[in-house]
Amino acid sequence: MADYDLETLSFEKAIEFYRDNVGAVLAADAKANSIKVLLKRGIFAEFLQDDWSYHDLIEKLWYHRNNSEAIVEDYRVFIPTSGKFLDKYSRCVNLMIGDVIHVTQFVVYPIGEEQYLFFLDELDKSFYSKEDLTGKKPEPVQSNYLFSMYMDIVRDTTSSINVTEISDEVMNQQLKYSEWRMMIVNMIAKEYQAQFLDETDPATLKKKYAPGQTSSFDCMMMNLDGVFIWVKLIFSRAETNNDDDYRFVFMVKNIHEDAVELRETLKKYEQLASVDSLTSVYNHGRIETELNNAIVERSKNDTRISLMMLDIDFFKKINDDFGHSAGDACLVSFTNVIKEGLASRNAVLGRWGGEEFAVVCYETSIEEATELAEQLRKKVEAHEFDKTGHLTCSIGITEVTADDEFEKAFGRMDSALYRAKSDGRNNVKTGV
Ligand code: GH3
Ligand code: MG
Ligand code: MG
Repeated sequence: MADYDLETLSFEKAIEFYRDNVGAVLAADAKANSIKVLLKRGIFAEFLQDDWSYHDLIEKLWYHRNNSEAIVEDYRVFIPTSGKFLDKYSRCVNLMIGDVIHVTQFVVYPIGEEQYLFFLDELDKSFYSKEDLTGKKPEPVQSNYLFSMYMDIVRDTTSSINVTEISDEVMNQQLKYSEWRMMIVNMIAKEYQAQFLDETDPATLKKKYAPGQTSSFDCMMMNLDGVFIWVKLIFSRAETNNDDDYRFVFMVKNIHEDAVELRETLKKYEQLASVDSLTSVYNHGRIETELNNAIVERSKNDTRISLMMLDIDFFKKINDDFGHSAGDACLVSFTNVIKEGLASRNAVLGRWGGEEFAVVCYETSIEEATELAEQLRKKVEAHEFDKTGHLTCSIGITEVTADDEFEKAFGRMDSALYRAKSDGRNNVKTGV
């Protein structure tokens, strides 16, 4: 760097220095959504594209996330107006160029109605340490709150919209609440759109919220990468004594990790609540639900479904001869034998109670069910149970009819089982 003599240094010389050193200069017309690059060098030669629109420029400058390239289309609606500069403006951003982050300073001069001059400069490394010291380095992202704003549903206005992932600055968009709803709904996952429209409906909000009241609902919403994540949409009505004052704070909170974990936990609980603790097949409540569902399914679809009830023969004697815990072990082994026999079938097995088991056989006619029941009966008969040796079971079966009811279908199956017992046990009977 050449030394300057302050005595002889003129304003022109300073301008000349600036011209030879500034990173980039460009003119922008927000209304026409166009830019004109007047000068670019260094990192900006690569970064600034001559065919960018104004929106492209603003997106890139505000977009200080480090790990991806572009904001998904739906979020772009929030970008254009974030660049409405009323006065000289300056800020620092992390620009991702290639895969390197460059700390960049840009200054904006309004030069006409929504027309601006932008001056961009890369800052040297010392800037990093200064920022670290003051703790003011722009957050690389992602606060828990993705989105927040203030709204008045009577005047149909929004204000102070803040899309955290796009910018850490508030955007004062002149956006009507009714318009905002219709923009945001596109970012909500399809299956939650109806609920979103209902919950954000001014009529719903008026009815639901007393002054100072807060409520929320969870749904899936697109993030800036275009990925649907779990979010909590929170509405809080302002504290007021005026019944006609309906101002709200609205926030979207990222709850994705917690929500995924919660869903897994709920699944586990559902599983636990459905399973018989001894045999690990469905418990009474769950298999009863399956039986009911099968009857509903048959009434709606032209599919064949058969039901089966298995009861171990003379099981009381096993308990008497070998003890209750041997009886328990025997029930577990019996279940495994039946599970094996059903493995290749579209069927669910549950413990109806004691030594009785129910099976719903989907896509199974009564003829196929008869064959299957015979296979199961023979499999049990042939099995050598630990300690307790051989045992047999009796099976009652029936096919679900299109106009069936639970009691009727169950009655047919139960009386078939009764006949199997009274006919000497270790056999299969059909209830029609
Ligand atoms: P049947 O051939 O007529 O079915 O005779 P059974 O002895 O199998 O029938 P019964 O209904 O008279 O007796 C069922 C027995 O099953 C009585 C009960 O002690 C036993 N039992 C029920 N639940 C359990 C259990 O969880 N563990 C054990 N070990 N035994 C059980
Ligand atoms: Mg029994
Ligand atoms: Mg029995």
